[in-house]
Amino acid sequence: MPESPRMVPVYLARIADLRVGARVSVRCASCGHTAELAAMVLRERLSLDLLVKRLGPQFRCRNCGHKGARVNAKEALGYYG
Ligand SMILES: [Zn+2]
Repeated sequence: MPESPRMVPVYLARIADLRVGARVSVRCASCGHTAELAAMVLRERLSLDLLVKRLGPQFRCRNCGHKGARVNAKEALGYYG
C-alpha cells in the first residue's frame, strides 16, 4: 500500500497513514516508560486498517508490565510543532 499523501486527523488515523521512516512514541500509562517504535515496524506487524488510537491499549510495558500506553503518533502523521 502506498503512503498516504494527505494529513489525517489523529482520531481517524490508521496504521496505513503512518509515514514510513517516522517514529511513534509510546508512553506507559502506569510508570511513564517511553519507547519509540518505527512506523515501518508497526506497518509490518499490525493490520494497516487498525486505528492508531486503538494501538495504546495493546502495548505491554517492558519496564513494569502494565498493559495500556499513550501513543503519540502526530509526527508520524505529518504534524510538526
Ligand atoms: Zn510501565
